[in-house]
Amino acid sequence: MNTSDSHTLMDRFGRKVDYLRISITDRCDFRCQYCMAEEMTFLPRAQVLTLEEIYTISCAFMELGVKKIRVTGGEPLIRKGVLPLLNKIGQHKSLDELVLTTNGSHLKSMAKDLYNAKVKRINVSLDTLNPLKFKAITRTGNLQTVLEGIEAITKHDFARIKINAVILKNKNHTEVNDLVQFAVNNGIDISFIEEMPLGIIQGESRAERYYSSDDIKADIEQRFSLTASLETTGGPSHYFNVNQTQTRVGFISPHSANFCSTCNRVRLTVEGQLLLCLGQEHSVDLKHIIRANPGDMNYLKQIIIESMKIKPERHEFTLKEQPVVLRYMNTTGG
Ligand code: SAM
Ligand code: SF4
Repeated sequence: MNTSDSHTLMDRFGRKVDYLRISITDRCDFRCQYCMAEEMTFLPRAQVLTLEEIYTISCAFMELGVKKIRVTGGEPLIRKGVLPLLNKIGQHKSLDELVLTTNGSHLKSMAKDLYNAKVKRINVSLDTLNPLKFKAITRTGNLQTVLEGIEAITKHDFARIKINAVILKNKNHTEVNDLVQFAVNNGIDISFIEEMPLGIIQGESRAERYYSSDDIKADIEQRFSLTASLETTGGPSHYFNVNQTQTRVGFISPHSANFCSTCNRVRLTVEGQLLLCLGQEHSVDLKHIIRANPGDMNYLKQIIIESMKIKPERHEFTLKEQPVVLRYMNTTGG
């Protein structure tokens, strides 16, 4: 079997999978324009994995060699019981890194608990420093709350804090340098993300608001001097050091620089689908497996090993009107 021994997951293109991203809720207190429709219908509870089921599946992956788990959503910090879940995953002996992606709205009150839960790194989404634009992009968010949340986590010794900014032409593309300056002032990193065509959104087309990583980098180099970094965090970002600072700038470029050849990750959706690729629909229903075979860890692990055979070689993102992938980022786990 061209998949794995009992401790590693390998796909048929020879890529080792040691990174799992989990969407623990599809719900969110924001409605970011690029992520969700304004009126969203969220999943009924019975369709969503319980926290115990999420932990069971996480354990199966960790026993199969997964070293890094990212908890995301939706907004992960609004799921009741998130802290005990993080505590349990963070204590697992085989895990190297428990990391989190959040919109920052609940960081102020949870910063210390997250640190105590052994969350190592936190990515906070922040697309603009202008309160009105922030409200327009997130539809319901409050910039000040998020800034206070970021301040709260910088007081703890997390291994890395990073801003994630999705840049859209004529919405926030003129703010790139202010965001870099914000990262520099706070001694944290920042990644710029090209918008991905997930789900159907309202308003102008995604192609119209596409702003490439090359454009962003050229803008940054007007004000900052960058040196390519050899460091990697095991993700799709290409990093540059901002000279004479502690800040690194990353670029996640699904359109302009395909990153699939080094893909080391799979995703668990909020409904328990194991997604083998963010930009394709290949998946395996792990919720069905664990509900039909309660307590059978060996069977679950066998299914996960087998599922590596259908991991696609690459994503098929395009800027065409109709996206290839109809699910939204919040159920998928960005
Ligand atoms: N709610 C949390 C947050 O916003 O950080 C975690 C989930 S969110 C889906 C994870 C990341 O996906 C965020 O950084 C967000 O900006 C990004 N994202 C959402 N929709 C996207 C899209 N269509 N293209 C690119 N990035 C997207
Ligand atoms: Fe919520 Fe994050 Fe999606 Fe924004 S990007 S709507 S904060 S899940």
